[in-house]
Amino acid sequence: MPSKSQLPWVPVHQSVPSFLFESPTATLPSTKPIIIDPKRPKTHYFTLHTLREWSKRLATGLVAAGFEAGDRVMLFSGNDLFTPVVVLGTLMAEGIYNSANPAYTPRELAHQLKDSEPKFILAADNCLDRALEAADLAGLSRSRVYLFETIQPGHENTAPQTSMVGNHWRSLISTPDAGEDFKWKELNTPELSNRTAILVYSSGTTGLPKGVELTHYNLISNARQLRQVQFTTDPSSRRALCCVPLYHGLGLVYYMIVAPSMGMQVYIMERYNLADMLDYIPKFKLTELLLVPPILIAMSKHIQTHQGKYNVDSIQKVIAGAAPIGMEITQDFEKIFSGRLNVRQGWGMSEALCITLCWHEQDPSKESSISVGKLLPGGEAMILNDKGVELPAGERGELWMRGPNVMKGYWKNPKATSDALTKDGWLRTGDIAYVDEDDKFYIVDRIKELIKVRGAQVAPAELEALLLEHPLLLDAAVIGAKGIGEEEYPRAYVVRREGATITEKDIVEFVSSKVSKVKRLTGGVRFVDSVPKNPSGKILRRELRERAAKEFSQG
Ligand code: AMP
Repeated sequence: MPSKSQLPWVPVHQSVPSFLFESPTATLPSTKPIIIDPKRPKTHYFTLHTLREWSKRLATGLVAAGFEAGDRVMLFSGNDLFTPVVVLGTLMAEGIYNSANPAYTPRELAHQLKDSEPKFILAADNCLDRALEAADLAGLSRSRVYLFETIQPGHENTAPQTSMVGNHWRSLISTPDAGEDFKWKELNTPELSNRTAILVYSSGTTGLPKGVELTHYNLISNARQLRQVQFTTDPSSRRALCCVPLYHGLGLVYYMIVAPSMGMQVYIMERYNLADMLDYIPKFKLTELLLVPPILIAMSKHIQTHQGKYNVDSIQKVIAGAAPIGMEITQDFEKIFSGRLNVRQGWGMSEALCITLCWHEQDPSKESSISVGKLLPGGEAMILNDKGVELPAGERGELWMRGPNVMKGYWKNPKATSDALTKDGWLRTGDIAYVDEDDKFYIVDRIKELIKVRGAQVAPAELEALLLEHPLLLDAAVIGAKGIGEEEYPRAYVVRREGATITEKDIVEFVSSKVSKVKRLTGGVRFVDSVPKNPSGKILRRELRERAAKEFSQG
């Protein structure tokens, strides 16, 4: 029997804009900032009311520029105060929001552009050249690329700061008057709320990054699930710091949809920076943090080395996830709070955003734990062995999930969709887990190909395809080699052409020149006579991971 949450669940069908703002004309809170730029908190912020009005203005401008239902907008930028306007404006215009990692090289972005074919590509100043080059590579017109930069709400009529490009995203924002009349379509039936709202890119359990289609229903359901478990006290008196990237599904859904729907104040960091983060905690009396392992580790080390220098007294809650965190790191981190709080892990994946398993914030336990917590309302899980037989509590197997926040499928990829989702809606996660007698889940391993570096996805298939483009290489396999703690390092096993003199260093440099930083072969390169494969040609990754562990231990 699959595990089920004991909490009640009643589906609601609505569009994301209606879920957040009720209607295009409802009276909304208009004085309390809910999304704030921590560098300029007095002038650069949105209230729920101004967030809706700006989003309506973008929706109006998009439609006027020829945007139609189902069209895509891609944002290629670091975190920005205006990211939620792009997300919500796109959804109001019945479009699909699509985010891209701002560190992507033109080659990486081109893959996503070819797949999602956005009508508008909004690129930050430092991403613009790469966006234009990627548009060329993907065969899309450069006229789709617009410069995206922040605007001071209230000073929207000042001239754009950059005049170097033809297209500026301000040309897509209508006047306040025109925006005021905008009405979005209500999606209040199961069929309508099943429309795709966002695409985030994930390699899933195998292959290249694919567009994960999350629907309006998926997104509002996850917010409603989390409301029962993570927002049990008055959210309007809670203040969070967004220090994770908003291109990644976790940050995107948690901070752009869940948090504003609760009325929680969120300070958005352009990008994570430890010194600023430690400064903001007492300055804004932040009450909670959502962290990924590298930030958690850096914060813990830094505060402990500078005893007494930092004040984290206002923090009442810390959730961590996106990659494994061991007990030693957990307990070490908890020291900085002198035993008054426990960091609780959550689990999610792009295909089931943003959090699917987590601890109830009122859980009475005071023990450190590496459990990722329990199912959310409406969620179901099973643990299966490799023969597809369901296992009892305590036994390890693959985690399968079902629930209202599980994706609709992969964008224009029915084969990958049917590989990942069963007909009756179960998602194969590719994670190995077990559940204890108290219904708490533990993630213990990963059987999917995916490598996680600093919480970000690295798809071995992508690096293998790149290595095979090298004229001196015949075959390649890439795995995540474990280093100190839980950290993973992409490591390649490659077969050279006969007589080729290429070195490990050449290969590392070749890859570094083509991919963003997290995908570099920091785990090194080994030459092999052949890549181990099963009879059907599948790379035996477990064998290579074990080999890497041995090689690492031998130094
Ligand atoms: P992504 O799609 O980028 O969010 O990656 C999802 C994957 O990250 C999961 O399938 C897990 O392999 C891993 N992951 C997420 N949260 C945790 C966690 N708390 N512990 C261990 N692995 C995690």
